[in-house]
Amino acid sequence: MKKRVFSGIQPSGILHIGNYLGAIRNWVSLIGDHDCIFCIVDMHAITVPYEPREMQARIFDTAVGYISCGVDPEKCTIFVQSDVPEHTELTWYFNTVIPMAYLERMTQFKDKAEQFHENINMGLLDYPVLQAADILIYKAELVPVGEDQAQHLELARDIARKFNNLYGRTFPEPTTHLGAGARILGLDGQAKMSKTMNNYIAITETPEQIWKKLSVAVTDPSRKRRTDRGNPEVCNIYSLHKLFSNEEQCSSVGEGCRTAGIGCIECKKILSEALASELAPIRERFEQLTNNRAEIYRTLDEGAKRCRKIAQATIREVKEKMGLLR
Ligand code: ATP
Ligand code: MG
Repeated sequence: MKKRVFSGIQPSGILHIGNYLGAIRNWVSLIGDHDCIFCIVDMHAITVPYEPREMQARIFDTAVGYISCGVDPEKCTIFVQSDVPEHTELTWYFNTVIPMAYLERMTQFKDKAEQFHENINMGLLDYPVLQAADILIYKAELVPVGEDQAQHLELARDIARKFNNLYGRTFPEPTTHLGAGARILGLDGQAKMSKTMNNYIAITETPEQIWKKLSVAVTDPSRKRRTDRGNPEVCNIYSLHKLFSNEEQCSSVGEGCRTAGIGCIECKKILSEALASELAPIRERFEQLTNNRAEIYRTLDEGAKRCRKIAQATIREVKEKMGLLR
């Protein structure tokens, strides 16, 4: 039996290189040796203000984005969260085992409550419980995510443990799987790169768009003039070099920065090219697949069908253990 993997991304905007490095690139490496389920978590995305008329297009683009980045629908399951309403049912059961104080401690809740202070809704607080239900309803053992989700995964393990203690062994405690690009910073070099903050490079950007964004991105703040020596270890551009450029380029820009041999613009140009060449095939596939609506929807329908079956079996088991099955 292959180990089951679960992960998801919110259709809260266009996928960016943080999503790609933190999540999707690792998903792709797990396909084949694992039973992978990848979700478009639309019920999470409605916890912040959004435009209902745009939601279906965002869901579609997220599905196209997954496949363009190499998530092969022939080898894994892709589906939309709201197509499997059992996730929300399990969330309610989990709500009764997890103390509220655990949720109030969550960093993402605090950050989003600040970012969207006019709409601090119950869903924003309950977000990690729905996430635990997403994972545990499939009894997934491995969850490839970015570092920002590690705290939520800790909570998912708490929930599994508490449920198992109260009602008998039902759920595995899922392991967090972090890759090399687990925490990509935005173009300001400070905040996490996020779909809902205008600080990202999207996976579908053209070489010109990539350069436009990189040319104004923040580097080592202490390097003010071209002749100043820089410290690559505190430069966000250098950390992106490590993920997109080859070893030779990394050591040469690193050395050039430390000795003031090259300027930030030159260093950014090299990164811009490396980034553009990695993203070019993704952008091309994205454009092709966008015209293939029927195929994408068939993938999502088949995915939901498979997931509903598994989810319904788990719900039945949970209800039985909780004394809710007639
Ligand atoms: P939003 O701004 O709406 O929260 P987001 O960009 O944070 O969007 P999510 O849908 O919340 O994206 O997260 C999807 C996945 O991408 C998660 O596994 C998350 O850990 C990962 N991820 C998001 N941002 C980054 C980042 N900057 N670096 C690495 N991984 C990231
Ligand atoms: Mg996020």
